[in-house]
Amino acid sequence: MRNSRRNFLQQLAVSAAAMPFLTFEQQALALVPQNRQDRVLRVALMGLGGYATRVAEAMQSCKRAKITGLISGTPAKIKEWRAKYRIPEKNCYNYETFDQVKDNPDIDAVYVITPNGLHHDQVIRVARAGKHVICEKPMAINAREGQEMVDACRDAGVKLLVGYRMHFEPNTLEVIRMRNAGEFGKIMFFQGLSGFKIGDPTQWRLDKTLAGGGAMMDIGIYSINGSRYMVGEDPIWVTAQETKTDEVKFKAGVDETIQFQLGFPGGAVASCLSTYNMNYLDRFFMTGEKGFVEMQPSTGYGPIKGRTHQGVLAQPHVMHQTLQMDGMAGIILDGSQPVVPVDGLEGLKDLKIIDAIYAACATGQRQELSL
Ligand code: NAD
Repeated sequence: MRNSRRNFLQQLAVSAAAMPFLTFEQQALALVPQNRQDRVLRVALMGLGGYATRVAEAMQSCKRAKITGLISGTPAKIKEWRAKYRIPEKNCYNYETFDQVKDNPDIDAVYVITPNGLHHDQVIRVARAGKHVICEKPMAINAREGQEMVDACRDAGVKLLVGYRMHFEPNTLEVIRMRNAGEFGKIMFFQGLSGFKIGDPTQWRLDKTLAGGGAMMDIGIYSINGSRYMVGEDPIWVTAQETKTDEVKFKAGVDETIQFQLGFPGGAVASCLSTYNMNYLDRFFMTGEKGFVEMQPSTGYGPIKGRTHQGVLAQPHVMHQTLQMDGMAGIILDGSQPVVPVDGLEGLKDLKIIDAIYAACATGQRQELSL
């Protein structure tokens, strides 16, 4: 017993005497036994499309996460990706067979990177196969689905994380540190502008069944989630107004442009824009009683740029998905806590707000939120 305790203490990365000289992040890492810090999260990627391509490239720079499996409906893609990332054939599946990851000891987690409308069923199947799940945003297409996913992962005893890469981005974390330190004073107002002009009218992002909606599901969610991590509270009400200039491209249930407003318990208000019909919209602004921050780009792939009343935000740029996947490995393997949550409940909160925004557009009425 005494020996095992001594071994445990020897495995800690640093001695207690050194702790006061370490940054917060180093302290958190130091508290994890070293042999556990060396463990690597072995991830199967599901859906080998545009975003998975970016994730896979960024994961080549990860220290604690690596690709060990592939799930795709296209054999030619599996062949190409297997060669590129040296994945054994026995770790490759299609959408009919991926429940078999249950019996694969080389896979700890599956990262679901498919169209939004498929996330619900796929995440639940992965959970039932006993593997941790990382799911792209939006986690699902409504809060009911999101709740079922949270419940399924809890029942299966696996973790559910959502691909909120901004929660690991250094300039964003610096703004959150400043806010927590009171450097902006009492937060009064947040503005989030999220949008781009979407092309090809036949893509899944403009199909209600696969996308779950329109710009709000895809890009507006950055202003929703951003308002929460910037203000540091969950909103208690929402109002929203929808406008549509093209009824052919943006069919019923596929939103083109929505403006929405949020109210927060501390008195702050937010004013946001979500659109598929305007470019150059990737901007956050927030003001408090003692200072302000503006970020543009604020949620794109970076480098994230911005300034506060104290000067330029100058944290180094690292590929977001590299930081995200190393961070998620720590959460899954070591039980470490991120500064801003990335779990299923965090994803569910955004879905509840999206449901309320659509209800506010349909009724013209302010919606109360209970997150
Ligand atoms: P994409 O169209 O490039 O890729 C989607 C993949 O899913 C393709 O490989 C496609 O073959 C596969 N797929 C499986 N079943 C399908 C079906 N029935 N219909 C259509 N495709 C099917 O899309 P993407 O841009 O990679 O987006 C995938 C997910 O990632 C979405 O949920 C999106 O919101 C999310 N995403 C997140 C970020 C981010 O920064 N976090 C960025 C882009 C996309």
